Amino acid sequence: MPEEIIIRPIGVVKSDYLDAGTIQEPQQKAVIEVFPKYADALRQIEKNSHLWVLTWFHLARRDRLVVSPYRMNPNSPDYGVFALRTPVRPNPVALILVELHKIEGMSLYVAGLDAVNGTPVIDIKPYYENDIVFSPRTPNIQPSKREMLQDIFFRQAVTHHQEECPSLLMAVRMAVIASERFGNLNSPDLQVTVEGSPCLADTIQGLSRARLANPPRFAYLPADLPGRTVWRRGNETLSITASRRIDMSGFLSLADADFFDTSIQKQ
Ligand SMILES: [Zn+2]
Repeated sequence: MPEEIIIRPIGVVKSDYLDAGTIQEPQQKAVIEVFPKYADALRQIEKNSHLWVLTWFHLARRDRLVVSPYRMNPNSPDYGVFALRTPVRPNPVALILVELHKIEGMSLYVAGLDAVNGTPVIDIKPYYENDIVFSPRTPNIQPSKREMLQDIFFRQAVTHHQEECPSLLMAVRMAVIASERFGNLNSPDLQVTVEGSPCLADTIQGLSRARLANPPRFAYLPADLPGRTVWRRGNETLSITASRRIDMSGFLSLADADFFDTSIQKQ
């Protein structure tokens, strides 16, 4: 086995995301400029809507094997770096799923590229259907701040549902309330019933990873109402009923009580 491996960048990230400490847009737009000598390697790449981009996080620390996900939750236990997506790792290779919008010459215009301007790109691969595991088991690092939880759910929701519609915004706010009550929404013993639009059901399903079967955790009743979700675990039931639809400014600014009626039953 070689003791050293030499990797040469095949391109570079061009982005207005300049500082790793700043908060990004969920669907950060960026351009991957592939170097001219790799032009042939792009042939037919436009047939893909999504790509895996492997980048080299050149600014990251490489001298630590255990870190705390402190930004998410200062009280979280430590994790080994191979158990997290932290940029801190012996070889700071990042694996990033992006949506490919268009190609001009050697420039790939993408959304979702979580890397600062000037980050070296070391490889690009297509994203395949086989890459999907709908409900994987993952550690639940509950964010200590509600805004962070809402932001994470929003990103997951857009990735799953693929449009920022009003029902998606409602689903995210409902998921925040449910997660504050029940923790990990992906938990096998948490069941959810959705009444409302197909968009609400689809987004709640994406956020909860609740499947119709194996195990049966998800139910949907189409209904012409703003929306309602009922979450059940054991003898505890949380009902969240929306009194009206919301737009982006309401999503960001309104309190739960401004548009939800929430009740908890134990039996
Ligand atoms: Zn929708």
